Amino acid sequence: MNVIFLGAPGSGKGTVSELLIKKNNFIQLSTGDLYREQIAKQTPLGVEAASYMNAGKYVPDEITIKVVKGFLQEHNDKLIFDGFPRTIAQAEALDTILKDLAKQVDKVIYLKCDSKVIIERLTGRLICPKCKKSYHVVSLKPKKEGICDNDGSELIKRPDDQEDKIQVRLNEYNTLTKPLIEYYKDKIVEIQADKGGPEDHYNNIIKEINK
Ligand code: ADP
Repeated sequence: MNVIFLGAPGSGKGTVSELLIKKNNFIQLSTGDLYREQIAKQTPLGVEAASYMNAGKYVPDEITIKVVKGFLQEHNDKLIFDGFPRTIAQAEALDTILKDLAKQVDKVIYLKCDSKVIIERLTGRLICPKCKKSYHVVSLKPKKEGICDNDGSELIKRPDDQEDKIQVRLNEYNTLTKPLIEYYKDKIVEIQADKGGPEDHYNNIIKEINK
């Protein structure tokens, strides 16, 4: 069972993935996290990815597809794709790679979210650089201000969570990623992701996955 989480930045893909990993032993492939790890280590891939990410732009398809192909040689089942594919070219490449491994995309969960809610979430988002848990300055505060509940690290604001970068990211999403809703029309399930909390979304998603 391989599941794609599709949705705008801030729609809650990462947060719900976290629950599916903990409770149902899924393995997450988050291309955004993967790039952030490379940026932290200052590898050549990280330096290149940062030049796009920090501007709010997508990393070019050929780079992302190569990275994902490498990951899929190690893991190709019980996967949650979080933030990949983001373009039709990436979706086509994923189909080909999985077919060669006798696997497929089984379900696509579309986290539908109002754009006003998205902007509120992203402008107030803080993340833990170590465990990647995300918080919100108003609606999802850590127990101690600025400190991660899990591991005591100092929380940071992602460079692409500045308001001007958020707008670029939303434009990228609307132009390049939204067409995937049509591409996956036979496998897609829509979840209303701007009402209720992560546990409610998790419960709806797991019901769909187990159908
Ligand atoms: P969000 O969903 O909040 O935008 P991500 O961590 O998924 O956060 O992605 C952050 C950034 O990483 C994107 O704006 C983009 O620059 C880069 N990125 C992640 N995944 C991809 C992808 N599949 N294709 C191109 N760029 C990507």
